[in-house]
Amino acid sequence: MSNKKGILVVFSAPSGCGKDTILRELFKKDTENEFMLSRSMTTRQPRNAEQDGVDYYFVTREKFEELINNDGFIEYAEYNGNYYGTPKAPVEEWLAEGKTVILEIEVQGASKVRATCPDSVGIFILPPSLEELERRLRNRQTDSPEVIEKRIALAPGEIAHSRFFDYCVVNDDIGTATDEVYTILKNLKEDNNNV
Ligand code: 5GP
Repeated sequence: MSNKKGILVVFSAPSGCGKDTILRELFKKDTENEFMLSRSMTTRQPRNAEQDGVDYYFVTREKFEELINNDGFIEYAEYNGNYYGTPKAPVEEWLAEGKTVILEIEVQGASKVRATCPDSVGIFILPPSLEELERRLRNRQTDSPEVIEKRIALAPGEIAHSRFFDYCVVNDDIGTATDEVYTILKNLKEDNNNV
């Protein structure tokens, strides 16, 4: 897939690194509406106040597999027993409009995008330490203890993938991490405009 006009950004982190909060803060800073966040499709159940069409498109495995067969995803992956995927059409439209399109995805999907879209840019959010990540996940109280244990177990393997990303940002402080990501995206946009 070509992303000549816009910039395709792959944004990954182990669960509990604060990537959702960073993105929320990032979009508040985007007063010129340059950034677009891809909305993923998933087969996992909605958590708490999550809404269909807002947080994710929540679908059945049958529906998800239908879209796989119709080549409807830029990438998809199975994570913690559920499918997650990036619908292709909106991303292609935004890139054609020159937007900076952010995919908030886990590391398997990130590798697929990096392989199929060599112009994409990878940003990885790291926790200050594994101990701190574990503390944050246990305090979050949005997942069952089993899911939390699985996410803690997945984290070291996910962090090992950070070396394949162009930028790594440590989330010690949300404000500082958001500023770093914002600066990276603004600089990319400026470089892209000068090509
Ligand atoms: P959660 O269940 O916590 O919302 O998401 C679990 C993981 O799936 C997170 O790392 C999240 O970034 C990732 N994820 C969300 N959407 C997608 C997607 O479209 N594709 C892939 N590969 N991962 C996704």
